[in-house]
Amino acid sequence: MDNNTTPNQNGDNHHKKQKNKPNLGLFLFLVISSFIIMNYFMKSSDDGKSKEITYDAFIDMLEEDKVDKVEDTGLTWKITPKTQPLEEVEFTYYTGKMNDDALLPMLREKDVEIQPYIQDTIGTLIWEIVWSLLPFILIFTVFSFMMRKMGGGGVMGVGKSKAKVYIEKETGVTFKDVAGEEEAKESLVEIVDFLHNPQKYVEIGAKLPKGALLVGPPGTGKTLLAKAVAGEAHVPFFSLAGSDFVEMFVGVGASRVRDLFEEAKRHAPCIVFIDEIDAIGKSRDSRMGGNDEREQTLNQLLAEMDGFENNQACIVLAATNRPEVLDQALLRPGRFDRRIIVERPDLKGREDILKVHAKRVKLDETVKLDEIALATSGAVGADLANMINEAAILAVKHGRAAICQKDLFDAMEVVLMGKEKKNKILSTEERKIVSYHEVGHALATALQKDSEPVQKITIVPRTSGALGYVLQTPEEEKNLMSKKEIEARLVTCMGGRAAEELVFETVTTGAAQDIQQATRLARAMVTQYGMSEKFGLMGLESRESMYLDNGTVLNCSDETAASVDAEIMRILKESYEKAKKLLEENRDCLDQIAEFLIEKETITGKEFMEIFHRIKSEDGEYHQEELIFAE
Ligand code: ADP
Ligand code: MG
Ligand code: ZN
Repeated sequence: MDNNTTPNQNGDNHHKKQKNKPNLGLFLFLVISSFIIMNYFMKSSDDGKSKEITYDAFIDMLEEDKVDKVEDTGLTWKITPKTQPLEEVEFTYYTGKMNDDALLPMLREKDVEIQPYIQDTIGTLIWEIVWSLLPFILIFTVFSFMMRKMGGGGVMGVGKSKAKVYIEKETGVTFKDVAGEEEAKESLVEIVDFLHNPQKYVEIGAKLPKGALLVGPPGTGKTLLAKAVAGEAHVPFFSLAGSDFVEMFVGVGASRVRDLFEEAKRHAPCIVFIDEIDAIGKSRDSRMGGNDEREQTLNQLLAEMDGFENNQACIVLAATNRPEVLDQALLRPGRFDRRIIVERPDLKGREDILKVHAKRVKLDETVKLDEIALATSGAVGADLANMINEAAILAVKHGRAAICQKDLFDAMEVVLMGKEKKNKILSTEERKIVSYHEVGHALATALQKDSEPVQKITIVPRTSGALGYVLQTPEEEKNLMSKKEIEARLVTCMGGRAAEELVFETVTTGAAQDIQQATRLARAMVTQYGMSEKFGLMGLESRESMYLDNGTVLNCSDETAASVDAEIMRILKESYEKAKKLLEENRDCLDQIAEFLIEKETITGKEFMEIFHRIKSEDGEYHQEELIFAE
């Protein structure tokens, strides 16, 4: 009765069957047992009103006709006298039994009520045993109850496998449900074939693979792929998250691993899936000091994987987004020797994912999924699935029967930027500032031909905290960025702040995000991309994790770090100056578009470019000259 199945955040394990029910039973048990205990004490309390007397005294009492009733309790006579010293409590005497044949006639003669002894039955014996054990049972129950509260497996549940709870006979997911990720699927097809007919491989003498590690950023479909392998091979799917193994008690995780594999071997061929394996598979020689429980669990896992017979088609799949922290022992041949990379989807992949999820919803003829795919560079499968769902909700909200392209674009903004905050009202002054800020970004983009065109500019606040933003969509999928492009991006980032300073001669907090983004980009230029003249090709920083953006580590001396900072500062300053110069030269453009934006709140890229081109052609000559002059 392992009732401590904590809800899994992933939401993938909703096929658990057990619920937290036994608590009611426990409560009833406690109530009943305390009731029995109370009775027990009440019963024994009237024993105090009994006094031992000698057999002689008993006979004397009988002769003096003072006895009302005698009761044979097995070993003694319990004597109730005729006169009671107190009225409210019954007072009795007792004395040992003797072989006295004269007693019975005497009792008869004095007309004393006699209650004979009734032999203990099995039932009463059991009651006695239960009573004597009761305190222990109670302590035990309370203890295990507390354990459960504290999040342990409960004393009775310690080490019990959760594997049974997570088993899925048929996942029902196939490779068709996983779009893109062609390379990953290709590697997995082999595993499916192993599971289908292991005999074929055994006969040739090939060793069956034991495990494969799925690595990739969160939301790219690792869990989905594992399920698809089981679904394609029509084998049972055992799944556990790495954190399920880690418990309060040392040794629990290890026993859980043992149970899981025992169960899995019984169901072979099957798939065992360990999600987020980095929770247990972290390198054992960590500098922070070890963690006994985790290490034992890991050792058990390694031992179990080695223990598979060659003809047992039990394949262990594991997923992680931090492959670099995994213990080397996990990765050597015979364990998770296959590493399957599940990358962020490319343009084609994103379109395919959108198509897979679009099957579940109704689309109208305006929808062009390739446009959405182009605009969502960097999004993973989970984002795209979420987008389609959000679009469906938007369509319902607007009373449409099918999703149109605008719903999809709006949904994209909702997923990327948060919902519109309709009731947040900016003051006229603030609207003006935000408007100039955003147009500053957009204009800086448009004025540098290396930058992407703008799609939309808006000053409607979003729940993400943005007061306005410029939506840019690339014309094509980009995998590389040139130095020139990065520099142009930096100028674009600075455009917002530059416009504020130019127009209002003061600056606001609105540029915080831009500054952060620009700084990160400039730092990467210097420390990772080898794009600064000062440091050349030296790698000064390395990324901590391949698939999560959780920062970088500096690999240089403190002095170098200080001059890196100086270099970054210089780059940022130059970008800002350039942005300011660009906007200054196009001040009329900035003013007109900003005014238009204040009025409309949201303008499209087309409207923006129209105004931009009109003004450019009006005084194009003039700017041309000035630019030459400036150079
Ligand atoms: P991960 O385990 O890599 O973090 P999941 O497999 O849990 O990601 O993916 C979450 C959801 O995102 C899936 O349930 C699915 O709806 C969607 N998804 C992710 N990748 C894909 C893909 N390649 N094809 C179709 N749907 C996907
Ligand atoms: Mg997952
Ligand atoms: Zn900005």
